[in-house]
Amino acid sequence: MSDHEGGAGAAGRSADGGNDPATDGNPPVRRVSDWNADRLHDLATEHDTPLYVQDLDRVRENCERLVDAFSEADVRYAVKANTGRAVLEAVRDAGLDAECASAGELDRALAAGFAGDRLHYTAVNPPARDLDYVVGVAEAEPKLTVTVGAVDALDRLADRGYDGRICVRVNPGVGAGHHEKVRTGGAAKFGIPYGRAAQAARSAAERFDLVGIHAHAGSGIDSDQLDSHRELVARMGELARELADPGDDAPGDTDPDAPASLDLEYVDVGGGFGVPYREDAPPLDLPAVAEATREAVASLPAGVDLAIEPGRYVVADAGVLLTRVNAVKSTPDERVVGVDAGMTDLLRPAMYDAYHPILNLGGADGEPTPERRDATPVTVAGPICETGDTFCRNRALADPARGDLLAVGIAGAYGYEMANQYNSRPRPAEVALDEGIATVVRRRETLADLTTVERESERNSARDASEVDR
Ligand SMILES: *Cc1c(COP(=O)(O)O)cnc(C)c1O
Repeated sequence: MSDHEGGAGAAGRSADGGNDPATDGNPPVRRVSDWNADRLHDLATEHDTPLYVQDLDRVRENCERLVDAFSEADVRYAVKANTGRAVLEAVRDAGLDAECASAGELDRALAAGFAGDRLHYTAVNPPARDLDYVVGVAEAEPKLTVTVGAVDALDRLADRGYDGRICVRVNPGVGAGHHEKVRTGGAAKFGIPYGRAAQAARSAAERFDLVGIHAHAGSGIDSDQLDSHRELVARMGELARELADPGDDAPGDTDPDAPASLDLEYVDVGGGFGVPYREDAPPLDLPAVAEATREAVASLPAGVDLAIEPGRYVVADAGVLLTRVNAVKSTPDERVVGVDAGMTDLLRPAMYDAYHPILNLGGADGEPTPERRDATPVTVAGPICETGDTFCRNRALADPARGDLLAVGIAGAYGYEMANQYNSRPRPAEVALDEGIATVVRRRETLADLTTVERESERNSARDASEVDR
């Protein structure tokens, strides 16, 4: 994992959460407290908990801010942050491309109606089955682009008869991201080492239609990491110029052995735009990041576009996870609030020690409204048999009582997407809000869903059949 996670917070220079008249109507972040609490109560009552709520209107606003800030760039949504069909369709309509990391993601993007020229597949150590699938798709959709991070993957594509659009993923040697598991720029797993990238690109151009170079440093770009972002972008700009004009070092060079100039369509500098998970963290100053990116890339060769691929930024603050308090237990050390969502529904706190804001929306019978309760340090824990199954420890919340509804904020990215069935827990339901109208887009899984694959397997279906015979 970890081509992606992270983002303890993000900081900007001037944006302050929506008081700026220029951002009215589309503030740089939607905090958990900005959601309509009555509406969330109604949704929880109607659809039960745990429940993801994903607001497509907010997804559209996020797309719009990205497209405005990076007006001259191609914006590609890294779909792994949230592959829900409703989200993909909203992003498609907002004009973004789809950046896919697996055959499954590509399949979803196709189903959501992205045209071939808006599909990008980035292979990270791709299994043969994925390559077979992608090459098959490319036959029908020849404008699809495949990004490869190893020379070996080029050979494997050529073996399958692929000679279409190729982008070379470069390991820039600089990483960003607040958690080591989420830095990719420096990890050998990702991309071709910077020093060998020009050679790899030239050799790719002999066999394929080389259209771009790509780098993704990791996740959680914030003001502290703007410098490494700048460095990455600068290196990529340099590489693009070197590929376009290999004789640049020696003006007037007519060396017949000099490599041919390569015409790229784009330089993709990746995603990793941070969102402010902490209540007191300022939102990312997107225009400032865009400006820094433009400056750092300097002048790209004529006809070469800049591209970015944000995932988290598009969906994170458009989602909340609603969960209800099952039980409250006081121990000498901690007050433990047991809720009906766990690490199987939202894995980030257990996996990355990630912080998610939590708001008590109240609702417990006979209890005062949350505003009238004391802020009390509590540990919010899920129902999974794992010590790590907590959403926070000793955090001050309006003292929760059994039956209260809690909203876990900024849960739209890598939330449902990483949900799993550990402890044989069915995955939660998800509703999408579209112009305020709620629709169930992923029904709650049932206990029967847990065993579908098993029951459909040969041995078990034979046994089930013989049990019927008896
Ligand atoms: C995960 C990923 C992204 C998006 O990262 P975010 O932090 O969600 O913006 C972009 N590009 C690549 C190649 C990725 O793997």
